[in-house]
Amino acid sequence: ESSDRSEKQVSGAEVIAQALKTQDVAYMFGIVGIPVTEIAVAAQKLGITYVGMRNEQAACYAASAIGYLTGRPGVCLVVSGPGLIHALGGMANANMNCWPLIVIGGSSERRQETMGAFQEFPQVEACRLYSKFSARPSSIECIPSIIEKAVRSSIYGRPGPCYVDIPADFVNFQVNVNSVKYVECCMPPPVSMAETSAVYMAASVIRNARQPLLIIGKGAAYAHAEEALRKLVEQCKLPFLPTPMGKGVIPDNHPNCVAAARSRALQFADVIVLFGARLNWILHFGLPPRYQPDVKFIQVDICAEELGNNVKPAVTLLGDINAITKQLLEQFDKTPWQYPPESSWWQTLREKMKINEAASKELASPKSLPMNYYTVFYHVQEQLSRDCFVVSEGANTMDIGRTVIQNYLPRHRLDAGTFGTMGVGLGFAIAAAIVAKDRNPGQRVICVEGDSAFGFSGMEVETVCRYNLPIIILVVNNNGIYQGFDADSWKEMLKFGDSTAVAPPFCLLPNSHYEQVMTAFGGKGYFVQTPEELQKSLKQSLADTTKPSLINIMIEPQSARKTQDFHWLTRSNI
Ligand code: ADP
Ligand code: MG
Repeated sequence: ESSDRSEKQVSGAEVIAQALKTQDVAYMFGIVGIPVTEIAVAAQKLGITYVGMRNEQAACYAASAIGYLTGRPGVCLVVSGPGLIHALGGMANANMNCWPLIVIGGSSERRQETMGAFQEFPQVEACRLYSKFSARPSSIECIPSIIEKAVRSSIYGRPGPCYVDIPADFVNFQVNVNSVKYVECCMPPPVSMAETSAVYMAASVIRNARQPLLIIGKGAAYAHAEEALRKLVEQCKLPFLPTPMGKGVIPDNHPNCVAAARSRALQFADVIVLFGARLNWILHFGLPPRYQPDVKFIQVDICAEELGNNVKPAVTLLGDINAITKQLLEQFDKTPWQYPPESSWWQTLREKMKINEAASKELASPKSLPMNYYTVFYHVQEQLSRDCFVVSEGANTMDIGRTVIQNYLPRHRLDAGTFGTMGVGLGFAIAAAIVAKDRNPGQRVICVEGDSAFGFSGMEVETVCRYNLPIIILVVNNNGIYQGFDADSWKEMLKFGDSTAVAPPFCLLPNSHYEQVMTAFGGKGYFVQTPEELQKSLKQSLADTTKPSLINIMIEPQSARKTQDFHWLTRSNI
């Protein structure tokens, strides 16, 4: 029609950007190339923050962290074929963590499909295993409704990733501006409450507990249940244990936090209330010998399919953690009750905490060099402000670091998570720094990495420097995976000159100067070997809010964690 032709045209890329903007999506991470460059440009024009990364995997980790931190999914924008495949790691990680995420993948032109097109791959099918929803809009006009569905699906029910496929021929194709109808922004997720009778029963099981324990998981963090949970803990005087990313929902230094007596608390509790924490490997499946055979679990979760996994729960509370915690509080308001603070259970826990805290202080005290993990983390903890984001990955680095480095705020710890993924650190740190920049300028991001973990996404340091994000990266360097060798043993072992000598699989090059990765791009780099050097460089890094820095901390290559009471606490291959 002639009247239509005179109308303004929009490209597929512009429609995608507008649809995302309409759904309140504020952040996009990715790597541009054929056919998605125009999408990033269009998004930027509409005020969506675009962050260009160096590998799609890290971009996808970053976008998924945005979802966890803000409750609104971030976008990961990738090119076709290999680009999308690199992002699958990030999708899988988000899926395992129950974090919302939108992946937008360019794909080959439709008319060349099945002909061996450039980077052709069955992308919608490939993403299905890692997502709640995976689709390709059938026309440009359909893009807004597909994007609305993707955003809505990512945050409703149990959060997770969604995939939208964009054929190359959509990107620059122009359509009449009036032919595209934008779907209104989806409503916030509906809040569901648990059945009244189940709430009543749960309260009664808690009241009758001899050795109660609350476990606070990252689902509680995501649900913003911090206020209600704190009230429950304080009003009923209950001991609580955070999971790794549940740390900070209630501050780690709260007197009711029994993290330092974790094994004891799990092993002898007779009633355990799970607030957004699955009984997977992180919680030893809820089974003996780590738990009493007859322990009563009360499961609080938004996902019905989760209830009853691995154990037969005493009570299930299906719904939103924040709403359900308030329902429980109502019960304890109606008939006030508190767990006796002088109980032998509290005494047992307090005693064990004292012993464990003293033991880890002891481990931090040796003045010998190279330093061990505990010495490093005690010095780091001393200087960190209460509101910083802590990102962490690595084996010992993450496990030991978690016990020493404290979290005081919810959603301020990001780590390898449910999937135990290495390589997430830099992407997570970049996402946290971008959120901090927009919401709380001056807030710092500390990224605590093992030397092996750092290697997975190390080139993202360029991204950090390009956007001038004042992230402090600590590389806790033991020259290897789990452990390594010092320079002399390394030389000895390789019998330098002997061409048949081989390096053990866990070894990395001794004394690698990872700090030079940072100085290469204009950030500050420090190579430290003593507690004094560590203190000084961290102090300088914290004082400089204008620049990123990397502190490469040399530790004893054979350093490991403190001996555990249980043999199954030690990784088999340490
Ligand atoms: P952790 O690693 O801390 O143990 P998990 O990832 O295993 O935590 O468990 C988080 C759980 O929280 C998931 O089962 C998820 O379905 C649930 N969840 C997420 N958001 C909510 C919410 N708003 N209300 C209730 N449960 C939620
Ligand atoms: Mg290492």
